[in-house]
Amino acid sequence: MKPSPFAYTKPSSLDQVFELLAAHGEGAKLLAGGQSLIPTLNLRLSSPSLLIDINGLGQLSGIAVKGETIHIGALTRHSAVERSPEIARHLPLVAQAVRHIGHAAIRNRGTFGGSLAFADPAAELPACTVALGATLILASRAGRRRVAARNFFQGLYATDLQAGEILLGAEFPVQASGYRSHFAELARRHGDYAMVGLAAHGRVSGEKLSDLRLVFFGVGTKPVMAVSAARVLETQAVTNASIAGATAALADDLDPPADLNGSGATKLHLARVLLGRVVQAMLSENA
Ligand SMILES: Cc1cc2nc3c(=O)[nH]c(=O)nc-3n(C[C@H](O)[C@H](O)[C@H](O)COP(=O)(O)OP(=O)(O)OC[C@H]3O[C@@H](n4cnc5c(N)ncnc54)[C@H](O)[C@@H]3O)c2cc1C
Repeated sequence: MKPSPFAYTKPSSLDQVFELLAAHGEGAKLLAGGQSLIPTLNLRLSSPSLLIDINGLGQLSGIAVKGETIHIGALTRHSAVERSPEIARHLPLVAQAVRHIGHAAIRNRGTFGGSLAFADPAAELPACTVALGATLILASRAGRRRVAARNFFQGLYATDLQAGEILLGAEFPVQASGYRSHFAELARRHGDYAMVGLAAHGRVSGEKLSDLRLVFFGVGTKPVMAVSAARVLETQAVTNASIAGATAALADDLDPPADLNGSGATKLHLARVLLGRVVQAMLSENA
């Protein structure tokens, strides 16, 4: 199929973007890497009258470490995140996760901010931002605001982005000493969206885990924090028995709807398998 006709513009400043968004309202769509938007236009799931191409805003691209925080600009390509030594060093969870996004051609065009704004429930990066306690930076004509990632994702392809707003980027605390993270997903083929995935981050001290965040994706309409399972793991040294207790407790955290990948029960089973693997990996020397 071909998309409905639309106008196209490529502004060179944020102020121009704000003006265009204000003038065209719901009829306008921001175009970043186009890896999600263009397919939805071609399938006529979306029919904007104007595409505002933000690729002229170079200031939205790049990775910068400032003190104890690391900023990833919204227009930073997945491939740049994948190759970044700063991401590998300070956000190993993101470095692991980004390799699972589609294929090289998609990662060369797709952007960090596009993935967060699109908010696919099976996408890797939204779960990472929640697990790592990131703050998302949004801007509109009215100014800038900061939103915790855990509050940004609100439902199926739904976020806290308001009319007239653009996502500028995300800010993460650099991984602190004593903390480890691990990412795993199950997909039919490498590069497919995940059937179920898990982004985990926490403090590891011997056999003890604390400040643990277990964020599952592909199990609901948005990233889901498994607080009951984390509590089981935090209250005792990690053993096979405590891992079994945590996987049992996952039933309190997750209620995955059936989808093309399987029934809710199958997805819960897969989530349990991932939880066991990820906890073992976090505790192992090479995690
Ligand atoms: C075959 C295929 C496989 C894929 N596999 C995966 C996968 O396994 N995992 C995964 O996570 N993704 C996958 N993707 C999607 C890919 O990650 C996209 O890059 C990403 O979802 C959207 O980024 P984009 O830059 O292409 O955004 P676009 O497609 O340009 O935009 C997506 C949406 O976000 C909005 N938007 C974009 N940037 C901003 C911004 N700065 N502020 C506000 N709104 C904005 C747009 O208006 C649009 O609504 C796949 C895509 C394809 C085609």
